[in-house]
Amino acid sequence: MTLNRRSFMGSGAAATLIAPRVFADGHGKSRVVVVGGGAGGATAARYIAKDSKGEIDVTLIEPTRHYYTCFFSNLYIGGFKDMAALGHSYGTLASGGVNVVHDWAVGVDRDAKTVSLAGGGVVAYDKLILSPGIDFVDGTVDGWDLSAQNAMPHAYKGGSQMEVLKSQIASMPQGGTFAMVAPPNPYRCPPGPYERVSMVAHYLRANNPTAKIIVADPKPKFSKQGLFEEGWADHYAGMIDWIGEDFGGSSVSVDPGAMTVTIDGEVTKVDACNVIPAMKAGRIAELAGVTDGNWAPVNAADMSSKMDADIHVLGDACAQGDMPKSGFSANSQAKVCANAVRGALTGSKVFPAKFSNTCWSLIDANNGVKVGATYEATDEKIAKVDGFISQTGESSDLRRATYEESEGWYAGITADMFG
Ligand SMILES: Cc1cc2nc3c(=O)[nH]c(=O)nc-3n(C[C@H](O)[C@H](O)[C@H](O)COP(=O)(O)OP(=O)(O)OC[C@H]3O[C@@H](n4cnc5c(N)ncnc54)[C@H](O)[C@@H]3O)c2cc1C
Repeated sequence: MTLNRRSFMGSGAAATLIAPRVFADGHGKSRVVVVGGGAGGATAARYIAKDSKGEIDVTLIEPTRHYYTCFFSNLYIGGFKDMAALGHSYGTLASGGVNVVHDWAVGVDRDAKTVSLAGGGVVAYDKLILSPGIDFVDGTVDGWDLSAQNAMPHAYKGGSQMEVLKSQIASMPQGGTFAMVAPPNPYRCPPGPYERVSMVAHYLRANNPTAKIIVADPKPKFSKQGLFEEGWADHYAGMIDWIGEDFGGSSVSVDPGAMTVTIDGEVTKVDACNVIPAMKAGRIAELAGVTDGNWAPVNAADMSSKMDADIHVLGDACAQGDMPKSGFSANSQAKVCANAVRGALTGSKVFPAKFSNTCWSLIDANNGVKVGATYEATDEKIAKVDGFISQTGESSDLRRATYEESEGWYAGITADMFG
């Protein structure tokens, strides 16, 4: 039996629901398949396995054996973390009842309700959760494609790309130039590029103090702009040149062979170049037919796809409303989704959807800033309820406390994801 949540939601998204049970169609236990073992997928898989206490078969499909978080990866660039500290394995998830399959999902048959794997396997589901993160939109930075990612790394997925970027920064000649091509909205982690600029500056100030940083940005403004600009002026004076849309930041091409960046017709030779192209939902969402344009639209109450009630899409890949694309958001959405999926499959109680997010950024040692909000599900979208943001001119004690809060968050969220 296929259950469409909209048909039994009664008084709306905020109602507490006792969902009818979906019986496993003659195949024993209900089956949930999760594609992508990142902030959204690992959390959803873990919560469904843990809370259903063996009533639901949970399979997680994830190609990598270690997940390297993008969150805190800028701190690796700045020298505050090593790569090992960012890596997490799936062993505890597996011993907690999740069947972890290290493979790529390469197709979804929505009629047969199966996921096909690159290794040739086929996995059946009653409910499918997709949390594949992002891929890049081809052709958005003239001269750059994925074949150039080692010459001009995006470093916008965790792991090896971060190592390439860091080694390029470390190899810059004294007085050399680092360039970033920043992405257009919407993209994962709105403050991420600007925290990265801060961390590159932090590294260069200590190791290459006459080096320069150029940021070509297609946007007229960016997340926490006042806080970053204050921090750059106070800590990295004269080092960072941000070129926004008004000054030609949206007219950019690169030549990875020649290591040049052309901004509004002016060619600059660079020594390291971080190209962060426009983003879209991870390809498997498109293959599953649940995208509309670049992202996958979902119902806010349970993160189900607007195209298929038995597919849920989490995290960066979905178009859900007001939440930024962040690890905190993906983790928060995963818990709402896990609760709804378990309710639909076992009849357990479903709680009203509530979401929250905070994005911290490190500007310099012990100088942390944050922006965050709480959200609720409406019929239309995940809607912002209220928010907060760090202020310019804060005391060093408060900035240190904000950084310490982010350290606590990192430990908490990774334990929540991986057990
Ligand atoms: C530099 C940087 C800094 C950031 N800082 C923060 C921060 O401070 N706070 C914060 O909250 N967020 C931060 N983020 C954002 C955060 O990393 C993402 O928003 C979050 O990881 C999204 O979770 P997700 O589950 O959607 O995707 P991901 O965590 O990327 O997980 C996707 C997973 O799916 C797998 N996958 C993809 N396709 C397939 C397939 N076909 N088959 C099987 N598996 C597949 C991938 O291998 C991956 O493991 C940062 C991001 C960057 C780049």
